[in-house]
Amino acid sequence: MPLTVIVLGSAAGGGLPQWNCNCPQCAAARAGDPMVPPRSQSSIAVSADGERWLLCNASPDVRTQLAHTPALHPRALRHSPVAAVALTNADIDHATGLLILREGGAPPVYCTARVELALTVGLRVLPALASYGEVSARRVEPGADEPVVIRDRAGADIGVRLRAFTVASKPPPYMLPHLTADEAADLHAGDTVGLELSSADGGAPLVYVPGVRELDEALRARLSAAALVLIDGTCFTDDELVASGASQKTARMMGHAPLTGEGGMLAFLETVTGPRVALVHINNSNPVLRADSQARWQIEARGVAVAGDGDTFVVG
Ligand SMILES: [Zn+2]
Repeated sequence: MPLTVIVLGSAAGGGLPQWNCNCPQCAAARAGDPMVPPRSQSSIAVSADGERWLLCNASPDVRTQLAHTPALHPRALRHSPVAAVALTNADIDHATGLLILREGGAPPVYCTARVELALTVGLRVLPALASYGEVSARRVEPGADEPVVIRDRAGADIGVRLRAFTVASKPPPYMLPHLTADEAADLHAGDTVGLELSSADGGAPLVYVPGVRELDEALRARLSAAALVLIDGTCFTDDELVASGASQKTARMMGHAPLTGEGGMLAFLETVTGPRVALVHINNSNPVLRADSQARWQIEARGVAVAGDGDTFVVG
């Protein structure tokens, strides 16, 4: 069976518009400019049967994302097609949506040991949820030989297989008091992973990587074997937040390869042959958010799409 993939949220943390931002993209989205539609925070949903879905990341916008997606509406008085959640990291924009899914007990959460630690002692999301019902955190080992069989809360196989791979990443800032200097300095400890998702029958997978800074040979090989790649489109240029005066941080300092410039994502993607590619996790500072921009044209001219909220793909 093919996998169906729905982009629930295509924006990076903060969304579009971001609550405290008046940059050109946020101002246009707020004003209802049809060239800059609003976008919610980073998440996708994946299903093999159209009935049971794996959420990849649970954003703070999950309540409205589910409300706007008929495939994810309840089918009975107390029911949700959301069978499980997988996390690429414990960032606030990827994990705090778990708190919104508390009624009836949160779905099972698939994550690495480092992400589980962050949700337990850092954000304390898992202990908070445990007082509303049993929470099942299920371990994902990056680089494991066998894929993880995704199961719903009753233990039934939903027909989706997951493999995780580490990307060079730092722990979220709120974890620094809870880690030794050596633990915090380990860039491959599993703080952030990419996810490779396929149906139980096999077939070329979807690779979902909303945060990645190092674009290396291993990643190139993995993406080239995929049918669909949904990848980090956070910033157009490395210094766009610095140049606009919005922040002191470059894209790379935040763990994201910029789209353009030396060693950027677009040049890397030109060496990846095979899959359809769409950008996700797009920051509100990124000029590609404007549909009639030069930046958008530059992306699309290379055969790379800019994913939007609600976009649906079929893989396999
Ligand atoms: Zn903005």
